[in-house]
This record gives sequence, structure tokens and C-alpha cells, in this order.
Amino acid sequence: MNEFLTKATRRPQLLTPGPTPVPHSVRQVGLLDPIYHRSEEFASLFLECRKKLQALFQSDSMPLILTSSGTGALEAALVNFTDEGDKTFVVVGGKFGERWRDLSSAYKCETKILNVESGKYADPAIIEQELSNETDVKALFLQASETSTGVFHPLKNIISSARKAHPDVLIVVDAVSAICAHNIAMDEMGIDVLVSGSQKGFGVPPGLSFIAASPRAWKAFSKRSKFYFDLKKEKSGQDKGLSSWTPASTLVEQLNLSMTALCELGPEKLEKRHQRYSDAVRAALKENGFELFAKTSPSFALTSFSPKSGISASDVQKTMKSKYGFQIAGGQGELKGKILRFSHLGFVDDFSILQGIAALDWTCADLSKEHHVGALTQSLMQNLQSDKNL
Ligand SMILES: *Cc1c(COP(=O)(O)O)cnc(C)c1O
Repeated sequence: MNEFLTKATRRPQLLTPGPTPVPHSVRQVGLLDPIYHRSEEFASLFLECRKKLQALFQSDSMPLILTSSGTGALEAALVNFTDEGDKTFVVVGGKFGERWRDLSSAYKCETKILNVESGKYADPAIIEQELSNETDVKALFLQASETSTGVFHPLKNIISSARKAHPDVLIVVDAVSAICAHNIAMDEMGIDVLVSGSQKGFGVPPGLSFIAASPRAWKAFSKRSKFYFDLKKEKSGQDKGLSSWTPASTLVEQLNLSMTALCELGPEKLEKRHQRYSDAVRAALKENGFELFAKTSPSFALTSFSPKSGISASDVQKTMKSKYGFQIAGGQGELKGKILRFSHLGFVDDFSILQGIAALDWTCADLSKEHHVGALTQSLMQNLQSDKNL
């Protein structure tokens, strides 16, 4: 491909699980002067935005909007809903499970680890057994979609297993990369604290995080000292459209616009849309001889796979970006160099998938004589066009 058509005229197209592509109309909002955040205009925008988030979270509890990356909301969950010395269980199946573990230890909870093999999903039966062996378990922390491995933990079954062992255990779910890609019905599933972030399924630049808490969680509000992330204080202000501190108001305005599109589709169709991408990308990669990393229970947000033998993961990333203009993600931590991650989260469309797969295919052909560009375009078209209504 002519370099002029890629590098020189646009930034690499994002196929990363955060940040995700920002729709053009949402980007344009970013050019405007910020709205004064103590005005009535902003208060009503803020409340409208929270209501739209509520529709995606599917909860009677209105999510709070925080100015921080997703990890800020994870920290807020830990600080506001556990006390020092509380016994917590943490599902650790990758980098983000480790983040819950590290937060729980940093804030001096008695942290029990439920280790899950990388690339596998957390087994509800094992969780039930491990939790049954312990008394006084305050909370279970887990991811819905473990973005570092591309796995979706079977949330519904895990929650019912955990509640069999401890009916009142707080279920705290990091759905930062799951919301929009998966239909996560907070109240129906019995989730107590649900967290997400702007740069994932929402198609907004990084900088906002979202957190909703059930009545059970509010009842367990911690005695710890808090300041920036005092969620009770936030809630009393945000219910009137005011945040405690200066919010990233431009991002809120951008979010309000992207949420209009997301709410129009609604959580069920959003899940179907992402599942369709996941199925299509998995089929294309398999057909092209790649080994999928998350063999069962894949996240609909992204597809993780191993680079072919003899081809380095970082060379694939570099060539795809410099020559064809597509940014995919590599592995994190132990998985660095071992896997690649192709995201289909948020505002991607059929043609960005088609182009991304083709760019990967061509990249591998550039890097290895063994790689033959396949009949994948055909497979992609069949899969992507199976449902024209989404
Ligand atoms: C992106 C992500 C986060 C948040 O990361 P930040 O860099 O703090 O925004 C947390 N959990 C998961 C599963 C994620 O994918």
C-alpha cells in the first residue's frame, strides 16, 4: 500500500481494546469550548448522560461518572466498599485480575486469590468450592472480560455459585472492556458494584470512568477515610448534576453523544453486534492458520491469538502499523511477545474488520515466505453479512 495513503493522511486505525475509535461527530465535540461545570446546562447534560449509562448498566442504581481512567473507578470500588482487614476473594486470570489483587492488598484486605490459567475462564464450581471453605467473605472481585487474555468469565454462573456459598457476598465486577460488547444486566445478574470506562466500548477518548453500586453495596459503605473518590459525597452531588471536583466536561459532552447511538441499539443488540465481530474474526484467523488464545468463552470485545511460528509479535504490530496503518495490541506481562490482540470493541464497522484482517494477512506474508494470503476475505464476508440488520 502506498505510504502516503496511510501514515501521512491519518493516524493508525485503532484495533486496540482501549482506546477504541472515536466517531467523527464525537471528535468534533472535542473541539468546542468546555461548558462551565457549575451551570444548569451542564447539570442537565450530566444527568442525561448518567441516565443513558443507567440504561446500559440495566440497574435501578444510576452510575456515577468519575474523572479518571478505569483504574480510578476500580480503586474507588475497593476503597468505598471494603474495610481494612476484610476478607476478599479475587479472580486472577490475567493482568486486570492482578490489578484487583494489588488494590485489595494495597488497601490491606485479607486477600484470597482464585488463580485461573491464562487463556482460560474462571470455573464457577471451583469458585463455589473455594468460597465455601471460608467464613466471613466480604467481597468477590473479578473481571467480566479479562482484556489481557481475551477471555469472558461466565459471570451469571459465577455469581450464582458465589451466592450459594455466601448469600451476602458483594460481587464487584470490572466490566471496563465488557460493557457494550456483552449484555451485562447489573440488577438481574445480582452485581453489587459495576465499573466501566470511556475509552472502551463507549467510543470516547480516555479520561472518564463509571461506577454503579447496589443498595447492598451502599449498606456496606466503608469506614475508611476517603477524599477524591468519596462515592457518597459524589452521589449526593451527582444526583443534582454536580460532581465534587471539576469533571472532564468535554468528555461528558462527547459521551452523551456517543451514548445516544449506543442506547438506540441497546444492550442486547450491542452484544449481538460484538458477538458477530468476534465470530467473524475468530473464523477468519483460524482459516488463516492462526492459533486462537482464548479457546473457549472468548470475550466479544477482542480476539487474542498467537503469532505464527517464526514471526515475532512485535514485528507484526510494527509492520501492520507502519505499512498498512492499523494498530493492534500485543500481550501484556507474561504474554508479551506471545500473543496479539485484535480488538473489535466499540465503534468499529464491518470494513474496519475486513481491512484489519487483510492488513494482518498481508503483514504476515511480508514477514514470512511460509505465510500464504488466504481465502479469508470470502469467509469474512459470509460471516459479516449473515445478519444485515445489526
Ligand atoms: C482498560 C481496562 C481497565 C482500566 O484500565 P485504565 O488504563 O485504568 O483505563 C480495567 N480493567 C479492564 C478489564 C480493562 O480492559
